[in-house]
Amino acid sequence: MQSYQIVDWGKPLQLRIRETPVPQGEEVLVRIEASGVCHSDVHIRAGYFDLGGGRQARLSDAGAPLPLTMGHEIAGTVVAMGPQASGVTLGTRGVVYPWIGCGHCGFCAQGRDVDCEAPRSLGTRRDGGYSDHVIVPKGRYIVPVGKVDIHLAATYACSSLTAFGALQKLPPLGGDDRVLLIGAGGLGLAACAIAPLVTEARLVVADIDPAKLGAATRQGAWATFDARDPGGALALKQAAGGPIRGVIDFVGSRDSAQLAMGVATKGTVIIIVGLHGGSLEVPLPLLPTRNLTIRGSYVGRLEDLQALIRFAEEGRLPPIPVTQRPLAEVDRILDELDERRLVGRVVVTP
Ligand SMILES: [Zn+2]
Ligand SMILES: [Zn+2]
Repeated sequence: MQSYQIVDWGKPLQLRIRETPVPQGEEVLVRIEASGVCHSDVHIRAGYFDLGGGRQARLSDAGAPLPLTMGHEIAGTVVAMGPQASGVTLGTRGVVYPWIGCGHCGFCAQGRDVDCEAPRSLGTRRDGGYSDHVIVPKGRYIVPVGKVDIHLAATYACSSLTAFGALQKLPPLGGDDRVLLIGAGGLGLAACAIAPLVTEARLVVADIDPAKLGAATRQGAWATFDARDPGGALALKQAAGGPIRGVIDFVGSRDSAQLAMGVATKGTVIIIVGLHGGSLEVPLPLLPTRNLTIRGSYVGRLEDLQALIRFAEEGRLPPIPVTQRPLAEVDRILDELDERRLVGRVVVTP
């Protein structure tokens, strides 16, 4: 098995060759056909998230083991099953739900793996998809892709799932309302594709890159806004042409969160998704007087991934642009993501 692994935090990934693992107990072995490259892996490779004010959340303190194979948008074929494995059959082609919990806490019992305090997530706590094979703890975490293109399906495990999870946290909105999406990278484009299934509100997309704004328009954005506009939040409010009742911040930086606060009106729900890092100073009286909500959203549930694949199979989910590149380029692709040079999602293939 060939895997590109973090061996030292902050250093380039290294190719490591090991015996292909044999699934034990309830585990299944998936031969990987596609693995999406996610911006969060730029931060994981670095070994920390920026909390602002010079503070960092170090992954070594959070229990992430080294060496670690990242990659959490994994799709492929089940090629071996442990003696107690169930919930899937040999030869199934599927996308792997990677946000796996401990399996026995209260949250896991409710299907809320994502809130589990002892996660076994693939690509962040256990070896993931920058490899040619991956062990999945249980067969039920493989969602068959049916006739959906397997490279596109891989991206549903994080970028689309995260966008879907965030969109579901918006308040009920009508066609006169606006939802602002900040960031038109892989997540922002996925949100444009999924939003019509979740909300009637019109989408306004802000980014600093005109090429990404063009992609957002093609993906169905109602209006776009160049976030470098010196007019700032005021100009954005005018461009929106209606009250911005929801903001999903796919960047998660000080600047993007300040822009979100600047456009908020009565009852606006601001959902922070991106992990760029930094901190936000919030004038506290605005929270009660504007009835504001600021909250986070982290990926989504297994049932959400199943729903996304169903929507795609039914033709209700327009595809986002996906570029295929060889697995051996994964470290360079992470650099390109860090420099914000990529449009759409890149999927590596072993
Ligand atoms: Zn991701
Ligand atoms: Zn749990």
